[in-house]
Amino acid sequence: MPADFRSLIPTLSYRNQAFINGKYVAAASGKTFDCVSPIDGKVLTHVAECDAEDVNRAVAAARAVFEKGSWSACHPGKRKKVMLKFADLMQKHKDELALLETLDMGKPISASAGGDIPGSIQAIQWYAEAADKVYDEISPYRPDSVSLITREPIGVVAAVVPWNYPLMMTSWKLGPALATGNSVIVKPAEQSPLTALRIAELAAEAGIPDGVLQVLPGFGETAGQALGRHMDVDMIAFTGSTQVGKYFLRYAGESNMKHVSLETGGKSPNIVFADAGDLDRIAKVSADGVFYNAGQSCNAPTRILVQDTIRDEFIALVAKHAKPWVPADPLDPNTAMGAVVDADQMSRVLGYIEAGRNEGATVAAGGSQVRKDTGGAYIEPTVFSDVTNSMKIAQEEIFGPVVVAVSFKDEAEAVRLASDSIYGLQANLWTRDVSRAHKLSRQLKAGTVVVNNVWGSDITNPFGGYKQSGIGRDKSLHAMDKYCQVKNTYIQL
Ligand code: NDP
Repeated sequence: MPADFRSLIPTLSYRNQAFINGKYVAAASGKTFDCVSPIDGKVLTHVAECDAEDVNRAVAAARAVFEKGSWSACHPGKRKKVMLKFADLMQKHKDELALLETLDMGKPISASAGGDIPGSIQAIQWYAEAADKVYDEISPYRPDSVSLITREPIGVVAAVVPWNYPLMMTSWKLGPALATGNSVIVKPAEQSPLTALRIAELAAEAGIPDGVLQVLPGFGETAGQALGRHMDVDMIAFTGSTQVGKYFLRYAGESNMKHVSLETGGKSPNIVFADAGDLDRIAKVSADGVFYNAGQSCNAPTRILVQDTIRDEFIALVAKHAKPWVPADPLDPNTAMGAVVDADQMSRVLGYIEAGRNEGATVAAGGSQVRKDTGGAYIEPTVFSDVTNSMKIAQEEIFGPVVVAVSFKDEAEAVRLASDSIYGLQANLWTRDVSRAHKLSRQLKAGTVVVNNVWGSDITNPFGGYKQSGIGRDKSLHAMDKYCQVKNTYIQL
């Protein structure tokens, strides 16, 4: 890793046009929007503002190459080889990608270079390797017939992705969608389009045919909606807010009933029983889990449920371990927490902090905007005590460096409070009682349950939610199925 990423800034050249059918092009309207860095509020570049006309062009190119079969019907081993080359090129440009991510989105360079970019490369590699290793099936049908169950790529997939892990969320969709032979159109979030735009040409250089991977920067209401309503888009793969996830279900219902996979919000409970063990260590892991990425992680353990007998001690420890997450310059390699994604998100998060105070919760740590003189968007790590689960700050996804603590009496109340949420993405549970761990893991309605930790994410494990946290799973071999149609063919012998 370079000692000083700042010295690389003058060498950057921003890709700021749409990538359609193998070329960077201006939006059909000629319009652009400002790409602003939350580090200092300055404009990095002006990015093509795609809308319905650009969507039509990209979908036509995606469909044409899909029907031609140069990617969709080629030997899976060829897809593997090309995708591995694509991952190698991402690796070659890893420092540039990390810097783009940090400048665009405000996360610390240590996180971009040490987490997001390696994780993105790994996702492309992992699915590349899987491309020629997943077999189809023959069902146990009548002896005078053969019944084949085969998977075929769905067709044109639109990946509409958020700003919290821009390249990683893009790669979680691209990996399985490309490995199974689809044509993919990425619509990055308006706050963070730069890394998706940069990797488009790396994909082309690796040999991914024109039209198979396209990138349309623009706004959700125009470009995003046009993809969601397009009659020739076969699938939407979305990560973002629950509200916009519901829009995509409506767009699909009002257009061609395209497949919709959704990875949406979370308000993950982090249940700490009095028998859990070393409370200081647990408080540290819990604080780290919340404040990593400035709290902008859908599965962050932002809702502590702590047993009443250890409540005050535990909250004080979490407040202690919040302190090292003080926001600092994202380009400094020692910084743990950088900016939140933009000024709007900062106002939104500060609005929640105000709402918590107004509802009677107590700020046990943090609570304010900091580093105002930089022009950037920075908020202190914030811990709320005296919270009840019905408060707005305990029910809604804040998506900032804010954790709330609610207390419970016994197992039954812990499960009831954990389930008292519209979300079901992840639940965390700390106890030394193995029976309790098994019993409660079954009762918790969440796509991921983590016992005695809050970190459980790996490309090998499926990730997605119960309830309004989404539909379908990203990551693991399970994700490959959702980018495929399952076909049954009977052959009479
Ligand atoms: P959104 O859900 O609005 O954005 C996610 C993606 O959807 C972006 O590409 C966005 O485009 C697009 N989009 C937005 N509106 C529409 C629309 N009407 N039709 C089609 N596409 C659309 O998230 P926000 O950026 O607004 O963040 C708001 C809140 O959402 C956060 O505070 C957080 O609570 C939650 N969130 C959750 C995430 C998760 O990982 N679960 C990730 C990001 C946000 P555009 O660039 O215009 O916004």
